[in-house]
Amino acid sequence: MPTPATSKAGFLDQSLSLLPGVGPAKVKLLGEELQLFTIGDLLHAYPFRYVDRTKFHRIIDIIPNGEAVQVKGTLVTLNTVGEGRGKRMTGRIRDASGAALELVWFRGLHVLSRMYKTGEEYIVYGKVEEFNHRLSITHPEMELAARAGNLDQATFEPVYASTEKLNKRGLDTRGRRKLIRNVFDRLQPADLQEILPLPLVQGLRLMDRAQALRNLHLPPDQAALDGAVRRMKFEELFLLQLRLLQLKLVREHKIAGYTFGSIGPIFRKFYDEKIPFELTGAQKRVLKEIRADLGRGVQMNRLLQGDVGSGKTMVGLMTMLMALDNGFQACMMAPTEILAYQHYEGITEYLEGMDLRVAFLSGSVKGKARRELLEQLAAGEIDILLGTHALIEPTVVFKNLGIAIIDEQHRFGVKQRAKLWVKNKPYPPHVLVMTATPIPRTLAMTAYGDLDVSVIDELPPGRTPIKTVHFTEHRRERVFGRIREEIAKGRQAYVVYPLIEENEKLDLLALEEAYDEMIQRFAPPDYQISIVHGKMKPENKDFEMQRFKNGETQIMMATTVIEVGVNVPNATIMVIVHTERFGLSQLHQLRGRVGRGAKESFCILLSSVKLSKESRTRIETMVGTTDGFKIAEADLRLRGPGMLDGTQQSGVLQMRLADLAQDGVILNVARDKAKEILEADPKLERPEHQRLAAHLDRYMRAVKGWGRIS
Ligand code: ADP
Ligand code: MG
Repeated sequence: MPTPATSKAGFLDQSLSLLPGVGPAKVKLLGEELQLFTIGDLLHAYPFRYVDRTKFHRIIDIIPNGEAVQVKGTLVTLNTVGEGRGKRMTGRIRDASGAALELVWFRGLHVLSRMYKTGEEYIVYGKVEEFNHRLSITHPEMELAARAGNLDQATFEPVYASTEKLNKRGLDTRGRRKLIRNVFDRLQPADLQEILPLPLVQGLRLMDRAQALRNLHLPPDQAALDGAVRRMKFEELFLLQLRLLQLKLVREHKIAGYTFGSIGPIFRKFYDEKIPFELTGAQKRVLKEIRADLGRGVQMNRLLQGDVGSGKTMVGLMTMLMALDNGFQACMMAPTEILAYQHYEGITEYLEGMDLRVAFLSGSVKGKARRELLEQLAAGEIDILLGTHALIEPTVVFKNLGIAIIDEQHRFGVKQRAKLWVKNKPYPPHVLVMTATPIPRTLAMTAYGDLDVSVIDELPPGRTPIKTVHFTEHRRERVFGRIREEIAKGRQAYVVYPLIEENEKLDLLALEEAYDEMIQRFAPPDYQISIVHGKMKPENKDFEMQRFKNGETQIMMATTVIEVGVNVPNATIMVIVHTERFGLSQLHQLRGRVGRGAKESFCILLSSVKLSKESRTRIETMVGTTDGFKIAEADLRLRGPGMLDGTQQSGVLQMRLADLAQDGVILNVARDKAKEILEADPKLERPEHQRLAAHLDRYMRAVKGWGRIS
């Protein structure tokens, strides 16, 4: 007799309590520990690895290189040692090769000491480390060898995520295998129908859905597993792209915007008479894309990516001029006062003789000056407003804001950006978000999948590539020598120190000490040193920055406040101290401060001698390339997609199988196919898309558009 659950109600939506042996206590535990509530949840909680039960390492052959190994042997000793916090359990496992391996546990000793018995044969899995010439595994996965093969004859066994609490209640990997078997025993064909359109499944030779899910949990062999993984990765990325593209369509239809029809006299005059250089091909292309956006009667929501120094400011400025030509105001917001003011100065200079009113607003514009500025802004007497996040305060009211530009968007929170949207009625301003932190294509297509993206992939001509070298601490003297040489040529130097919020005080102390040391080496009056850090008052910071810009000081010692935007073309050498403490994208941003003129520039990465594998990879990447996109991709591989500020909140990147660092090819296909389908059937109303539409509706509701909030 079929159980009631396999009838129409939807077996997958039923509570886990339906499964044999799963009582209220287990249901509660699975919900609390792993957020598994329904049978469908269980089905979609995939194993995180598989064990090939036929393959064992011989202990005598093991090389402790951080890789995980699987061995089969007899537990020869098991002892609890130490007291209090130092208490631990150690065991030894000896295999047929005659060698032994140490096992160590620090947690769950009470349960484990009763679970494991000496004299029994176990299959042990874990990462091998070497301590005092002894090989050991800490918290190994262990299973009685006699029981391991019992469940079925499969040699390929899934391993599931678990917790201490679940293990105690028999919901360890073995328990989970039993549950999932029960699920598959009860599944009816109707429960797991194909959701992808048939031509797609056939065209791409995808494994069918039910089979893929089964093979993902209980693969008979590697080939079946590979096919299943490919299919489910595709499904995941395809559904996500479909959803994001749908959101984009909705946005394009619903959110009306002002039409900035034609290029007018302001833009033209600037282009013909004022612009001090020839635009690069990439700048021209991006301006065309923006212009097309602004002429469609739909709100523009565009992300502009361009490496440091690629000339985004000019594109931003010319975009603002398009708004001005159509009778609107424009604003540009930057994350720091220094940067915002630099925009103000630069743009004022570009616009000299253009009869346009450009103003600057930040927290330090106060009192009467602020009141007057706000009045003029509301009256439409200011054309372009540049500033910091002071711009988004409610008291800042425009007469008619046509476009808002956000520079270095990753520095702003999602909510801050959203506040710009309400700065104008009835239509929101067009929005251009600029970033110098290149986002790998795969990430841009997911995290920002519903935004339009433009890329400036070309640097202005005449730049000499930056030479990057790595030095360890004990070659400091060499490094100081290099600084001296550059200064002797009339150039300037940055020396950058890390400042991490958690140990800010210590870092500041270190910076002050370093400053004293530098003063010894580069003594006034021959040398002048500026120092800038995040804890200084903005006025003092600006004062020091200004001195450096004017060439009054030759060395700028700083924490990462110089990370964004500062432009001093005469600075040709940057020394980054404690390089290992910086992230890759941060290093790339920092390095972009030099190499801004035609002179050859240098970046010296100073680090300690001992480096973790990851730090080493970061440094090698920096030495190997100056291409921001390559660096971003390396960063993605090292850190995973969570690195992009804000994306964690979007839910977009919480994928089960797909990996943006690895699955770019599948992602491209998924996006193309999603586009094709939406072009033919934008609302997924055709009968062959019915199941797909229903599935999207149910499972992708949580994916919110990014376009709406940028
Ligand atoms: P970023 O993209 O990092 O914001 P900027 O807009 O600050 O870059 O531009 C960096 C420098 O390049 C500025 O000094 C700017 O005047 C200059 N620049 C921008 N576009 C060009 C170009 N097409 N030709 C020559 N120099 C340019
Ligand atoms: Mg910039």
